[in-house]
Amino acid sequence: MFRPKTSSSRKPRSLNRLAIPGRLWIASDVHLGPDAPATAAAFQAFLERAGREADTLILAGDIFDAWIGDDVALREPDPWLLAALAALRRLAARIPLWLGRGNRDFLLGADLARHVGARLLPETALLDTDAGPILLAHGDEYCIADHSYQRFRRIVRRRGMQRLYLALPLRARKGIAAWARNRSMNANRYKAPDIMDVDPAAVAEALRRSGARALIHGHTHRPGRHGLWIDGKPCERLVLPDWDFDHAETRRGGWISIDRNGLRLWRYGPGGPEPVPGNEAGAAV
Ligand code: MN
Repeated sequence: MFRPKTSSSRKPRSLNRLAIPGRLWIASDVHLGPDAPATAAAFQAFLERAGREADTLILAGDIFDAWIGDDVALREPDPWLLAALAALRRLAARIPLWLGRGNRDFLLGADLARHVGARLLPETALLDTDAGPILLAHGDEYCIADHSYQRFRRIVRRRGMQRLYLALPLRARKGIAAWARNRSMNANRYKAPDIMDVDPAAVAEALRRSGARALIHGHTHRPGRHGLWIDGKPCERLVLPDWDFDHAETRRGGWISIDRNGLRLWRYGPGGPEPVPGNEAGAAV
């Protein structure tokens, strides 16, 4: 039977479509860990605010600076983690919470999500929002110029490899995680900044395939709002900030709010959260 080729027939099956009506807030790259108490405090205040002002919260990866398995985290959580999990659970009792995986916490799993009452976000999601369809991903998959990282990513994302790792005793898991982290930090020191940013062609292709006109991602720690043209149509790429209230010279963090008035990028200023100048609300469609 003849079927006209529509844009939807070209959409990959793996693209998960989620209906997220109402006021949606998205944050990523909070990098919670034992050495970031000020960041954790700011993040907990953010969660309380999200519970009051948003209808849904999505955390799009690298909420934790490291994750070596749900079992370890849930069995014997350190005090900082216990507090973070409690705050997430409080939030999830008020509004829907989605947890995505980043490159640091890609082992975060269904047990953790269940524990806090959240849902696991698919790797790439097409969000049907009040501001139109928005493509959401952590962002590391678009950094394709970083060949060594992409090779590492392909290996550690294999289910069999993850099962093997999670079957190891805690000491071995910690050792491997520390090794991988040192290796990555040493490698990144010598990489050109462009290599660690998203590839414009990969972004364009992802937007084209999704049919969305806006992409939101984190990972690169380069918050901003970029206009681009794809097939003659104006599109946008919004980049979430990373959070650091402990080590950075100026504290940083923020989120993106989405509602029927459009998308808005927020950051922490001296007097508290404020919209990023020049990034006033704009519609995704
Ligand atoms: Mn990341």
